[in-house]
Amino acid sequence: MKHRSSCENMIKYQLVARGITDENVLKAFSTVPRHRFVPDEIKYLAYNDSPLSIGEEQTISQPYIVALMMQILELKGSDKVLEIGTGSGYQTALLAEIVKEVYTVERISSLIRSAEDLLNNMGYKNIFYKFGDGTLGWKDGNPEQNKFDKIIVAAAAPDIPESLTGQLAMNGKLIIPTGNRMYQQLVVITRTEDGYIHTNEGGCMFVPLIGDEGWQE
Ligand code: SAH
Repeated sequence: MKHRSSCENMIKYQLVARGITDENVLKAFSTVPRHRFVPDEIKYLAYNDSPLSIGEEQTISQPYIVALMMQILELKGSDKVLEIGTGSGYQTALLAEIVKEVYTVERISSLIRSAEDLLNNMGYKNIFYKFGDGTLGWKDGNPEQNKFDKIIVAAAAPDIPESLTGQLAMNGKLIIPTGNRMYQQLVVITRTEDGYIHTNEGGCMFVPLIGDEGWQE
C-alpha cells in the first residue's frame, strides 16, 4: 500500500511534472514495482528521485532518466530491443512491458543472475539474457537476424561503439550516454536510408561502460 502511493507520487512529481508524456512509458512505470529491484536495506528509498546502489559498485538509474530515454526511443509494441547494462533488471522489466522482445546484456555475472531470477519470478517471458561485454552488442546466430529496432545503453561510453550502430535495423534508434567518466551527453543515433543521424538530448551522469568498445577497466 505504502509502495503503491510512493510509486504514484514518483510518476506525478518526477516524471509527468518534468515532461514525460508517453502513455506507454507512464503505464509501464505504474505497473513495475521499483522496490522489488532495490536491496532490502534501502527499500524505503525505492521511489526516491535518485539512483540507488545495487552492489558491485553499480546503481539502479534515477527513474526520470530511465523514463526520458524510453520516451526518446518512441517504443512500439512490435519493437525488438537490445539493452546494454541489465543491472537490477528494473529498466529491463519496464521495456518488456511495452515491446515485443528485450535482449539484455550485463558484464557482472552476479547482477545478471539475480535480475534473471527476479524477472522470471515476475513472469516475464519476452526477455533474453546474456552475460558478457555489451559494447559488442548481441553476437549469437545470423548477423542479419541480429538487428534491433531500438538499442538502449545504461552506462557511459567514451565514443559510440560501432558494433552497436551496426546492429541497428533500418529506421532504428540507439540511445547512449557519451562523454568522460564523470559527465556525459545523451546521444541518439537514428539509422536512415541516407546514413546515421546524431542528435544530442542533454547532460547526464552514468557509471562507465567497460569493455572492448568502451572504457578499459
Ligand atoms: N538499467 C540498470 C542500470 C544499471 S547501471 C537498472 O535499471 O538497474 C549500468 C550497468 O551496466 C551496470 O550493471 C554495469 O555492470 C553494466 N555494464 C557496464 N559495462 C558493460 C558492458 N560492456 N556490457 C554489459 N553491461 C555493462
